[in-house]
Amino acid sequence: MRKVNLHTHTIFCDGKNTAEEMVLSAIAKGFDVLGFSGHSFTSFDGGGCIKDADIPAYKSEIARLKEKYKDKILILCGLEQDYYATQEAFGYDYTIGSVHAYHVTGPLDDGSGFAFIDYSTDHLRKAADKFYDGDLMAVSEGYFDRISTIVEKTHCDIIGHFDIISKFNEKELVFDENDPRYVAACDKALEKLIASGAIFEINTGAMAKGWRTTPYPSAAILRKICQSGGRIIISSDSHAVDTIDYGFEQALRLAKDCGFKTVVTVDDNGRFVDEEIVI
Ligand SMILES: [Zn+2]
Ligand SMILES: [Zn+2]
Repeated sequence: MRKVNLHTHTIFCDGKNTAEEMVLSAIAKGFDVLGFSGHSFTSFDGGGCIKDADIPAYKSEIARLKEKYKDKILILCGLEQDYYATQEAFGYDYTIGSVHAYHVTGPLDDGSGFAFIDYSTDHLRKAADKFYDGDLMAVSEGYFDRISTIVEKTHCDIIGHFDIISKFNEKELVFDENDPRYVAACDKALEKLIASGAIFEINTGAMAKGWRTTPYPSAAILRKICQSGGRIIISSDSHAVDTIDYGFEQALRLAKDCGFKTVVTVDDNGRFVDEEIVI
């Protein structure tokens, strides 16, 4: 199988390594394709994002690396476009659409009216207390409602970490993923997103960070995606050279166990192709 990872962060946003260090690591690990997906700028998380003014430098550095290493690996320039990105994504090879926090009330230009999903259990509980009288399940419903429109909002090719709302469940149960409210909100988002034709990622990022022992999304969700004809791509959401292919084999096995015969990879021309799973 072609070895591909399109979800990669660098020091342009919240990654630990330079883009060139990531390329050299990907070559050493035998990758055919490496895509960069820096965080788009959002007002609630300026520190972890690429500032809009730095986008030209980001694009030109990726272009330089694409040319320099073209005989060894195909480099693609993408963006992880947040739902609340302050500018539209233009001129990328692909985009990943993600929700890391969602707006509940008040002004959009500071974080005060946002429910933070990706940060900590404490942030989730605070959101429940602040906006929903302590009802944590309402936070998951709010999240799924927002991610359900990520494709129409960002025009993304790939849906980022679809059930990121479950990030902390393994270490500290926050949501019961069998609760009818959770399942209903999740299914409604799934139905809409599968119909959009966008690709879901099996994302091992939270495994590399020690939060989970399995990737996003859960096996139950993956089975539903498979049964409805949805497509998947394996990605590591890597923030450092040592995690570019973290958990890939486990992710492929999970895909197979959930019924998938193929995953999406990328051909030599940078186009998405469906490739039979070989482990
Ligand atoms: Zn993300
Ligand atoms: Zn990411």
